[in-house]
Amino acid sequence: MFELLKEQPADKILMLMQAFKEDPRDQKIDLGVGVYKDAQGRTPVMRAIKAAEKKLWEIEDTKTYTGLAGDIGYADAMVDLLLGDAVPRDAVAAAATPGGTGAVRQGFDLVRMANREARVFVSDPTWPNHLSILKHMEMHMVPYRYFNAETRGVDFDGMMEDIADARIGDVVLLHGCCHNPTGANLTTEQWQQVIDLLKKTGAVPMIDIAYQGFGDGLDEDAEGTRMVAAQLPEVLIAASCSKNFGVYRERTGLLLAVAHDEARRKVNQGMLNYLNRQNYSFPPDHGARLVTMVLQDPELRADWEAEVKEIREGVLALRQQLAAELKRLTNSDRFDFLAEHRGMFSRLGATPEQVEKMRVDSGIYMVGDSRMNMAGLNKDTVPVLAKAIVDAGV
Ligand code: PMP
Repeated sequence: MFELLKEQPADKILMLMQAFKEDPRDQKIDLGVGVYKDAQGRTPVMRAIKAAEKKLWEIEDTKTYTGLAGDIGYADAMVDLLLGDAVPRDAVAAAATPGGTGAVRQGFDLVRMANREARVFVSDPTWPNHLSILKHMEMHMVPYRYFNAETRGVDFDGMMEDIADARIGDVVLLHGCCHNPTGANLTTEQWQQVIDLLKKTGAVPMIDIAYQGFGDGLDEDAEGTRMVAAQLPEVLIAASCSKNFGVYRERTGLLLAVAHDEARRKVNQGMLNYLNRQNYSFPPDHGARLVTMVLQDPELRADWEAEVKEIREGVLALRQQLAAELKRLTNSDRFDFLAEHRGMFSRLGATPEQVEKMRVDSGIYMVGDSRMNMAGLNKDTVPVLAKAIVDAGV
């Protein structure tokens, strides 16, 4: 029977990782996979997570199942981190999921159960996994314009025009902050305009937030998500702890369904539990427990917040250095957008040929659409990249 199955296309980012590994050059620079790296190229276990892990080893006395939605303390701590006091806690149904990807998948599943005909509006471009999950689930997908190739900022007029087509029963997928892959984000005013438009259309927003704290700050990065949750009757939020807690392989995520109606919230909670049960039963707990301990313990939390700030400011400094270096080399400000973008990624706006040239000539690895992971740089490699960008004629 399995002879009927066809080979799946390889994941482009994972292929790029492999090619990087196999490149014998010492000077190579990896701007590919979306993982935070420090100046030495390491992805360390965060200090507070390490401390929590040590403590957990001492106090954990059982590994029996939690609940279908995971540990309630995790949901409480994460709802607080994500939403602050934007909505009452009892307006939110929440379930732990295996990573942010699990939350995205469960969110789409919930949408499909509610409406088989739902169209999911996605930014063009978006995180490729959004597209491949929707395709796998045979759901309708409608791209909306998002990136202005000229300015490398948000094509807000195009976005609004395209989202205006959404209807009741449709979903509009938004990135909470640090848009992947472009690095271009909505301003507070633009979030408000999107909210007003969604109110008019009746479409439900689904927010994917995977980099809270990596853009402008923990609260700042959640601002759009909080505005949406406070003002619209139904909202889905898929959150990931992979990056901001550095717990990638622990698979730690949360799906939230906001409904300002007690009866609806109860049904939603039951649905989230049900979907977990059907797909994998109990969600992973280890990463979630560490995150909860960090968020609940004032000392660990302060240290975690300090480390997230170090990461954020480190990436921002690399952005500013790269933009300044390119300004010097080109005598123009056309690369200033690099310092405006937020989060780990920036779409450079290079052609696939230019991306290839940078790889072949300079050992610089970025995704084919010219997404760069800025955290793959350090002070010494920024000038190398800047020169390669200019030499490739970007
Ligand atoms: N959403 C976006 C936009 C992402 O970039 C990522 C990480 N690449 C995720 C969700 C989910 O990540 P994970 O499943 O590793 O938590």
